[in-house]
Amino acid sequence: MDYISTRGRAPALGFEDALLAGLARDGGLYVPAAWPAFDASALRALRGLSYGELATRVMAPFMGGAISEDELRALVHDAYGSFAHAAVTPLTQLGQEEWVLELFHGPTLAFKDVALQLLGRLFDHVLAKRGRRITVVGATSGDTGSAAIEACRDRELVDIVILHPKGRTSEVQRRQMTTVLSPNVHNVALEGTFDDCQAIVKALFNDQAYRDELNISAVNSINWARILAQVVYYVAAGVALGAPDRPVAFSVPTGNFGNVYAAYGARAIGLPIQRLVVGTNSNDILTRFFQSGTMATNGVVPTISPSMDIQVSSNFERLLFDLLGRDGAAVTNVMDGFAASGHFTVDERQLAEARGLFDGFRADEHETAETMRRVFQTTGYLLDPHTAVGVHAAAQARAAGTVPAEVPLVSLACAHPAKFPDAVKAATGMHPPLPRHLADLYEREERVSVLPNDVEAVKAFVRSKSRVTGAAR
Ligand SMILES: *Cc1c(COP(=O)(O)O)cnc(C)c1O
Repeated sequence: MDYISTRGRAPALGFEDALLAGLARDGGLYVPAAWPAFDASALRALRGLSYGELATRVMAPFMGGAISEDELRALVHDAYGSFAHAAVTPLTQLGQEEWVLELFHGPTLAFKDVALQLLGRLFDHVLAKRGRRITVVGATSGDTGSAAIEACRDRELVDIVILHPKGRTSEVQRRQMTTVLSPNVHNVALEGTFDDCQAIVKALFNDQAYRDELNISAVNSINWARILAQVVYYVAAGVALGAPDRPVAFSVPTGNFGNVYAAYGARAIGLPIQRLVVGTNSNDILTRFFQSGTMATNGVVPTISPSMDIQVSSNFERLLFDLLGRDGAAVTNVMDGFAASGHFTVDERQLAEARGLFDGFRADEHETAETMRRVFQTTGYLLDPHTAVGVHAAAQARAAGTVPAEVPLVSLACAHPAKFPDAVKAATGMHPPLPRHLADLYEREERVSVLPNDVEAVKAFVRSKSRVTGAAR
């Protein structure tokens, strides 16, 4: 099983090398050279399986034999043993065909745990086999960081440095990162925005000598293995709701386009997905793209759904690769132009193709809060603000008629409401309590380094913390 770069100028890699590489050497993202296919009987055979078993069967064909099905099964069971719900990602029914897929039962209460609990174990497995160490570097708008830190803490062969925008994450998010005092965990509060953090991480990756010196690897949603782990819950939900004998639609609150690209992956392997609804907050670059065919940045505004306060959706490049006929040179052209000018436009045919599958809807701050309030008043169910953006988009899609009434529409619940207590309280009057394992979060000691928005300062910091040395590479 080969993985190829969206920019067409990096070598194709097997699963393990794509896992360790993260970003491709030509600046592109890895995607499967060809998607494995699950026909109707293969999908039917997944019915009634535990989450761990279904995950093993869905992911095994993507390994190309690098990791055996039994090894994978052991890693998967270990990863999802840390979840607080036996179904790992349970479905909740909010209306006749309105569903919520709860992805927040992992250790840090957000969907990123689903991928990262597995990723940490995959790293350990592959590094031990190869006698190597790595330095994980990542940028976070809040949730990726804590989930990555939980996945990598105390792992013998991994050091982890996570950059977050100083003062721009929620207090719960910050404390979930900075109170992990394990010696291999290093938090940086960068004096800048999330996009500044992401730009610095990209710069580290694009400095080949530096990257090789410290064996730098990514846990951002650019890492292919994260996408793969997320494909699983779409398949699990789809099969539970009647696939392959019935189509299903999903509404996904979106920032980096990683989660919704995983849905696209589930469709690529055969799940009958009728529609993908993309929900954005006021940072609506993707909604504008699906309406107009033009991707144009226009600054980040802070919202009550901060994990989607993003103007450049890095994973969109994977979809673009397909829209441009899998032509790496064409993707390079578009992305270079985008980096230089802040915008690009696809042609009529490409836009029509994208709109054949995707809808984009935006929820402003008022609509997000109003959705939390309405759902709580009608069902008693508390949504976090990110989930509310997706539930709002789902309602818009129903109203627009793009998802027919008889098709189950699953909104992804991406964070536990207790992760964003202020916004939930303001909208619903309810204070969502933290689950027991995080109840003393506000009393725990914090450790964090504040750094300027400067690539060289970050490079020096990472070098001083990494345990990768000439001998241990
Ligand atoms: C990361 C995150 C998102 C956005 O997910 P992408 O994969 O970046 O699109 C949405 N909601 C929450 C709670 C998140 O943590």
